[in-house]
Amino acid sequence: MQPVPTIGVLAIQGGVREHLRALELAGANSISVKTREQLSGVDGLVIPGGESSTIDKLARTFGLMKPLREARANGLPMFGSCAGMIMLADQIVGGIEGQESIGGLDISVERNAFGSQTESFETGIVVKGIHEPDREFEGVFIRAPWVIEAGESAEVIARISVGPHEGRIVGVRNDTLMATSFHPELTADPRVHELFVEMVMNS
Ligand code: GLN
Repeated sequence: MQPVPTIGVLAIQGGVREHLRALELAGANSISVKTREQLSGVDGLVIPGGESSTIDKLARTFGLMKPLREARANGLPMFGSCAGMIMLADQIVGGIEGQESIGGLDISVERNAFGSQTESFETGIVVKGIHEPDREFEGVFIRAPWVIEAGESAEVIARISVGPHEGRIVGVRNDTLMATSFHPELTADPRVHELFVEMVMNS
């Protein structure tokens, strides 16, 4: 592995630019990934927030779903935020009919779980594994999913710590995959992306 990894951002739909910027801040080279060829050239892949049903549909239409699943099965590290979390979940609750995911994380995820009244909110989150883990990360939640259940192979790295949703799981990882319900790419704090860059470097 070269000292500076090249990390792709799946550029089908959603917040691509913000992740490209955050990855650069975290010390990686970042490129947009729209094709199978581009996918084969990256050391890791971010799946951005957006609309998971749209990302799924377009990925299948563009013939990217199979290569994405193969890359994931071959150990390509992936990080999904919000809709990206849904794309990495083995099970989706509240998906549209026929909605599929790349899968790989042994979690069951509920779409739009925080409900309409709290469609968007921010709260401080302790994220396990980031630099200065005691310093709360600013969690930005936009029509976000939460994790209903995490299997043994999925380590919980973040939970809501206050308010009506206290205790809800909003961050998980295993050896190569990581997912957050919130959007670290919408903050100026690079620590979650740094954690992913470390995962990529260690893979
Ligand atoms: N609600 C969206 C979905 O189900 C996710 C929202 C987001 O990524 N900000 O895909």
